[in-house]
Amino acid sequence: MKIRVLGAFGGEGLGHRPSAFLVNDRTLLDAGTVSGALTVSEQLAIEHALISHSHLDHFAGLAYLAETLGFCETGAAVTITGIAPVVDTLRWGVFNNILWPDFSKIPHADVPVVKYRTLVEDVEQRLGDLWVTPIQVNHTVPTTGFIIHDGSTGVIYSGDTGPTEALWRAARGLQGLRAVILECAFPNRLGPLAEVAKHLTPALLGRELDKMPVNLPVLIYHVKPQFHEEIAEELERVGSDRVAILDQDRTYAV
Ligand SMILES: [Zn+2]
Ligand SMILES: [Zn+2]
Repeated sequence: MKIRVLGAFGGEGLGHRPSAFLVNDRTLLDAGTVSGALTVSEQLAIEHALISHSHLDHFAGLAYLAETLGFCETGAAVTITGIAPVVDTLRWGVFNNILWPDFSKIPHADVPVVKYRTLVEDVEQRLGDLWVTPIQVNHTVPTTGFIIHDGSTGVIYSGDTGPTEALWRAARGLQGLRAVILECAFPNRLGPLAEVAKHLTPALLGRELDKMPVNLPVLIYHVKPQFHEEIAEELERVGSDRVAILDQDRTYAV
């Protein structure tokens, strides 16, 4: 499985793009940024956008991807995919002809550039060349992590979350898992804020390591740009050689 890091951060800064990954060239895993990281032809190859939750830093790139698809008129379309509360919020709260055009009617309702698909929680479902299982995690709005598998290898993706159990429980015993892609948003001194906003700090993340089913490498994303150095130092002190911060623009083979 090939995972390209389009945006590695939990916000935007100079050279820092919000969270987004491209799996095997066709499937977005969150979409905080898309057009700012891909050529037009690469954007046209996208078929699915798997979205963990309805916070802006995880879907804003869909707005401009929809425009790219609409202007190119090649027949390419992206299917926005996630659990019902996430898909419904994007459909009725974003692509609603107020905040942004309803691209499910553009250029025509019968051949739109944006489609929607709702996934069932806790059930493995086919998505393009992948198998995907959405598992609810612990955030301020309905949010899932995903277990993503291509039939031979797989990864666990956390979405935004505070301390969680269900995701690790669901992954227990699965074959072929190669990595955990886990969020970490705030430094330890902002623990109280992390608790309210339901995110992880390096200290909280250290406790998650012990709950994971196997000794997988843990790749960190969603660091807030302004805290990057502080969090990197604290992650080193977590003391595990399993943990590394993901590099933006790098493609990982897992
Ligand atoms: Zn986020
Ligand atoms: Zn969030």
